[in-house]
Amino acid sequence: MTGSRIVIVGGGFGGLYTALNLCQFPWTEANRPEIILLNDARHFLFSPLLYELITGEMQSWEIAPPYEELLADTPVRFQQAQVRGVDLAQRRVDVGGEQITGDYLVLAVGGETQRPAIPGLQEYAHEFRTLADAERLRERLRLLLGGTGVVRVAIVGAGPSGIELACKLADQLGNRGRVRVVDRGAEILKTFSRFARTSAQNALEHRGVWLNLATTVTEITDNSITLNYKDQLDILPVDLVIWTAGTRTPDWITALPAQHDPQGRLVVRPTLQLPDYPQVLALGDVAALGDENGQTIPRTAQAAFQQADYTAWNLWALTTGRSPLDFKYFHLGEMLTLGTEDAALSGLGVQLQGSLAYVARRLVYLWRLPTLKHRLQVGWHWMMTPWLDWVTTMVSNQR
Ligand SMILES: Cc1cc2nc3c(=O)[nH]c(=O)nc-3n(C[C@H](O)[C@H](O)[C@H](O)COP(=O)(O)OP(=O)(O)OC[C@H]3O[C@@H](n4cnc5c(N)ncnc54)[C@H](O)[C@@H]3O)c2cc1C
Repeated sequence: MTGSRIVIVGGGFGGLYTALNLCQFPWTEANRPEIILLNDARHFLFSPLLYELITGEMQSWEIAPPYEELLADTPVRFQQAQVRGVDLAQRRVDVGGEQITGDYLVLAVGGETQRPAIPGLQEYAHEFRTLADAERLRERLRLLLGGTGVVRVAIVGAGPSGIELACKLADQLGNRGRVRVVDRGAEILKTFSRFARTSAQNALEHRGVWLNLATTVTEITDNSITLNYKDQLDILPVDLVIWTAGTRTPDWITALPAQHDPQGRLVVRPTLQLPDYPQVLALGDVAALGDENGQTIPRTAQAAFQQADYTAWNLWALTTGRSPLDFKYFHLGEMLTLGTEDAALSGLGVQLQGSLAYVARRLVYLWRLPTLKHRLQVGWHWMMTPWLDWVTTMVSNQR
């Protein structure tokens, strides 16, 4: 007897951690599954630390390690492939002409940035979601800082990405920066706790970041952004526009013949199985599931990470004749980076702000990195960096 084949599409917080968790089960030679992980990029991305790449606080190898490295000591087979559709009934994935059929299929391709039809948005606004986005943005900032004038940045979206990015950029640009955050809503971080909102508000004020709330963007050009506040249009000169507002479900997921929620996400049972295709599981940003109180589970790494535990367990259960478990979401809290060496953290009865929160956030994320080996490499680098900086300074002072 040979084990089942499990095909996981998307190697982010949902997919990669499902694959890694699957390797921890006590498989026998007879039931050990073949695990195939498909992802469009050749590296994983720990997106909560993407901001640190812009400021140079971290390097890409730390937050975006290649799958080959992460999966080297595991039986998981990684294949780089952009999937554009799947056959749910057959659990078949078409990968550039090659058909891969699984006994079980896991869909975990995450979300995309929503890009409404605003003139100039497509051409001139930067996104902030992938490693390539961060690298493009860093290069643009480098060019802008190479000039002599002020650097005017408009960030659209006052959710966590917009606010965290605004604080980081304000710190990085210093007195050369003029950073504003625009949002059509009346408040920042509307799904966050009062503590997080107040901490963020203080951090923005402290850094001189302008807030344009209850304001919509009507046009973007290569050097301006047009804002509409109470039907008054204001054309502001800008050097850089970053669009962080909204997450959408990829079109090919929305087009699948399955049950969807109004955002196009795949409706799943509490066991994360698709109601009409029990051998297909979905998790993370593409899955729609309510918690015990009927609240939709948020599109966060925290939720995807927790679902990966259940997905792996349920795949193990399904392939070994056990009963799958219902997913229970446990909200651990919130963490925000609010500039260089500044953060806010709340959860499990603890509220922290400032440099202590910054250190705690880093340690939590270090612990969340995908493999022990990678955690040790990154932890070692963090420990050694102050010494390396000190040695570099000493050497240059000697010259
Ligand atoms: C800048 C930023 C900061 C964030 N910060 C936080 C935070 O601090 N805390 C938090 O909880 N959440 C945060 N989030 C949200 C969090 O990253 C997502 O909710 C989480 O990653 C969702 O996990 P996922 O597995 O569904 O998708 P992802 O982690 O996005 O993984 C999807 C994977 O699928 C791959 N993929 C996509 N399409 C295809 C395709 N067609 N074929 C093959 N592969 C494909 C992608 O390359 C990716 O590797 C942040 C998001 C961003 C963008």
